[in-house]
Amino acid sequence: MKCPFCESELGNCYLESSGFLYLTTKLHPFAGPQIAPKKDKIARLNGRKEGTGIPVQYCPACRKVIFRY
Ligand SMILES: [Zn+2]
Repeated sequence: MKCPFCESELGNCYLESSGFLYLTTKLHPFAGPQIAPKKDKIARLNGRKEGTGIPVQYCPACRKVIFRY
């Protein structure tokens, strides 16, 4: 797949964390996303099935990352 921003070829890798990864509408620097209000969360990206990370595609040219949530 080509990068939608610069047309370079994308590479495959993982976005990995020792905790859960969340997609949120704002940051929760003190309490963290796990106990943030439900309205602030778009998705939790990984769970037991995905393990420590999710597959992503990255562009080495413009340093953007694309992933499905
Ligand atoms: Zn790019």
